Amino acid sequence: MKRTVYAPEHEAFRETIRTFIAKQVTPNYPEWENANQVPRELFNQLAELGATSFDIPEEFGGAGPTSFKFQAVIQEETARAAVSFGHYGVSIGIVLPYLLRLADDEQKQRWLPRIASGELMVGVMVTEPDYGSDVAGVKVTATPTDGGYRINGVKTWATFAGRADVLMLLARTDPDRSAGHRGLSLFVVDKEPAPGHDFSFTQDGGGKMEGRAIDTLGYRGMHSYEVAFDDWLVPEENLVGGDAGLGKGFYLQMEGFENGRLQTAARAVGLMQAAYEAGASYARERTVFGKPVGDYQLSRAKLARIGGTGHGAAQALSWRMRATHLTGGEPWLMTDSRWRR
Ligand SMILES: Cc1cc2nc3c(=O)[nH]c(=O)nc-3n(C[C@H](O)[C@H](O)[C@H](O)COP(=O)(O)OP(=O)(O)OC[C@H]3O[C@@H](n4cnc5c(N)ncnc54)[C@H](O)[C@@H]3O)c2cc1C
Repeated sequence: MKRTVYAPEHEAFRETIRTFIAKQVTPNYPEWENANQVPRELFNQLAELGATSFDIPEEFGGAGPTSFKFQAVIQEETARAAVSFGHYGVSIGIVLPYLLRLADDEQKQRWLPRIASGELMVGVMVTEPDYGSDVAGVKVTATPTDGGYRINGVKTWATFAGRADVLMLLARTDPDRSAGHRGLSLFVVDKEPAPGHDFSFTQDGGGKMEGRAIDTLGYRGMHSYEVAFDDWLVPEENLVGGDAGLGKGFYLQMEGFENGRLQTAARAVGLMQAAYEAGASYARERTVFGKPVGDYQLSRAKLARIGGTGHGAAQALSWRMRATHLTGGEPWLMTDSRWRR
């Protein structure tokens, strides 16, 4: 089915990504899957392709405003090839929007150029053992102290937390739990990258951070961790947005998650494409009762349904979601210039 949502520049980028995956990722992927992590160099290579600088202003080393369609192309192509770029989608799709929205200029200067160059690996920490979907309930605390905040509690499913240079952490800054979602703020937690499956760090003042990887059944290469914080000190300049960021964490987190959901929709489209291509190829090659499976009317109808209706519907759904996201719930408006590009 002819796809109409992508312009020639998106399709050219798709070719680049498809070739990159075929040459640099697919041949190495079994090894990465076994290790349950992707190599750090992958991010330098993605930076060379321009894939880590989307939406980052040029003054901070990025490409400036960029259509979300380039990110969707990456998600479709990695899913189509049954590979992942590790935490790439989290870092660019989920974390970047908060920094762009709320970080002050000094913070942007500190973090954005290093994200654009593929140098800074970012993990995101929202989920806790007792709080997943219910983000407003999270209970890890950030308590003010001399020069910063002390972090206490446990986060889980933090993808890439071992390799990450920084962890974007959602914590409760308002001690009054009845403040609910209004009591949450975002912090950038610096740490040393740890290449293995567990890590343990201590600070001079007695703070501790300990993590261990969770073995996953599918979607490997993400390398997700459970991490316990015990009086871990985060300097006050790492509160995203400074004092203006106090209590804004939930809202920014939810905005970031919207991109994450759209990435998932794009991955579903890529998987469907792969299933269709595998089915069509099998139907051409497999012969039954003297002719290829694909010569039978029912096989053709099924393939047409997957290739046309199913795929088209998924594409339409994902782009309708995107339009809804950009226009605050009114897909027909499509006023956001990012959608038009
Ligand atoms: C591979 C992987 C990587 C991840 N990476 C990260 C990461 O990098 N950072 C991070 O912070 N988190 C990460 N997560 C965690 C993920 O965000 C949570 O799993 C998710 O938020 C769901 O939380 P939960 O697993 O605790 O499920 P729960 O919230 O306990 O939900 C359990 C079930 O109840 C359903 N449910 C929940 N609420 C409702 C409702 N209101 N009505 C009806 N049904 C409901 C859910 O759909 C689900 O089926 C990752 C998870 C996985 C599996």
